[in-house]
Amino acid sequence: DTVKRRPMVIGNWKMNLDHVQARQWLLEYASSNTAWQHRMEDADVVVNHVEIGVLPSFTSLLAIRDMARDTTLDPELFFGAQNVSELDAGAYTGDISAQMLAALGCRYVLLGHSEQRRYHPEDDDKIDRKMRVVLDRGMTPIVCIGETKLGREDGIGIDYALNQLVSAVRLLSGEDMSRVIVAYEPVWSIGTGMTPDPSVIESALADIRDFINATFGADVAAKVRILYGGSVNPGNAAEIIRRYGVDGFLVGGASLDPAKFAEICHLA
Ligand code: PGA
Repeated sequence: DTVKRRPMVIGNWKMNLDHVQARQWLLEYASSNTAWQHRMEDADVVVNHVEIGVLPSFTSLLAIRDMARDTTLDPELFFGAQNVSELDAGAYTGDISAQMLAALGCRYVLLGHSEQRRYHPEDDDKIDRKMRVVLDRGMTPIVCIGETKLGREDGIGIDYALNQLVSAVRLLSGEDMSRVIVAYEPVWSIGTGMTPDPSVIESALADIRDFINATFGADVAAKVRILYGGSVNPGNAAEIIRRYGVDGFLVGGASLDPAKFAEICHLA
């Protein structure tokens, strides 16, 4: 595992921030970011080239797209959607297609988030087809996997998450897979302020990479970025990112605060 993967931090806004608030967020993020850059320059720190993105609600995507194009802001802020339909087009009231998201310039589409799995419900069979449509439109799927509290207490933690991954990637070639981002998010850690011990995160991510290695080969496994998500904040980000094989974060609650988000990005 000697390939250098670009670290990344993705903010998942969930059902928060309308398009007016999204614009405000972006302005505040840009100024926090500038402040961090000056601090880093003063301290002579060489800044890592972290890939940074946000996942607004569908209704805020256009506002973010228009502002992210404005180069006086941070030009390196990418964006994507929190979900997509697995269907192409037609009589599917209420659904949003991959083509529509690609037309907006989305770089990512989040798939299989535990809140989608729980409230809609999103099943494994749909997620694998969504992976396909997202890749076919040239976007990057970020697939979420993770065990519930019950699964953790039963000791089936990582096996549960791995089974979700097996199912999500079953329609993919090795070349497809090398473009995928995996987010390991233990469900019991999302929005609760609880995180696994950093050593547990490290070994979970190693198990995920081992599975990719066994299924798609070492070249692919070396390229796939694997993120940790679940109650990431400026207080715990540094010790988690330091762990071997942690390529970045999927941040929920803390990403709603632009200053906190900028801080997490700089810690990465
Ligand atoms: P959290 O959410 O950071 O608020 O725990 C993470 C997520 O659901 O992606």
